[in-house]
Amino acid sequence: MVAKAPTRVFIGLGSNLAGPAQQVRQALRALVGLPATRLQAHSSLYRSPPMGPRWQPDYVNAVAELRTALMPYALLAALQRIESHQGRNRNSLHWGPRTLDLDILLWGRRRLKLPGLIVPHPGVAQRAFVLYPLAELAPGLDVPGCGRVEQLLAHVDGGTLTRVG
Ligand code: ATP
Ligand code: CA
Ligand code: CA
Repeated sequence: MVAKAPTRVFIGLGSNLAGPAQQVRQALRALVGLPATRLQAHSSLYRSPPMGPRWQPDYVNAVAELRTALMPYALLAALQRIESHQGRNRNSLHWGPRTLDLDILLWGRRRLKLPGLIVPHPGVAQRAFVLYPLAELAPGLDVPGCGRVEQLLAHVDGGTLTRVG
């Protein structure tokens, strides 16, 4: 049997608790350890204001590019295990503070509408903290159904983002 070619997948990482930059760096190392998966590249880390309740700390965000032979649900489950391992409390407030959030942003050129898994991630085209790091890795990339990353950038406010040194 011929092995299926790995798919180019982009992951959004975010944290605003318990040392956010360290959480994101730890998560990047965890992505390196995923089975049947290669961490191809990752963006800089960015500090960004919270999207949900305003009283919570700023976030640190980044985007990682993977090549994976995993199936979508298998990768989602693996990402949720990494979140749990880093202390993510899944029963907390919607868009509330969290130690780690890992979202599947893009799965090759595919569009998925499965129970518990929508790709492209519905927030990709509207979120500066996703588009700026994504543009570092792949400015010309087409987000299926939305347009190219560099065009989408023009519609979000990057003024609130700062790079983490
Ligand atoms: P948002 O999805 O708006 O960024 P969030 O990351 O805070 O919000 P979570 O509480 O982390 O949301 O996830 C809620 C559910 O979203 C998860 O249980 C997961 O099944 C589902 N989900 C749907 N599509 C995706 C995706 N592309 N990547 C990750 N989770 C997804
Ligand atoms: Ca998210
Ligand atoms: Ca999430």
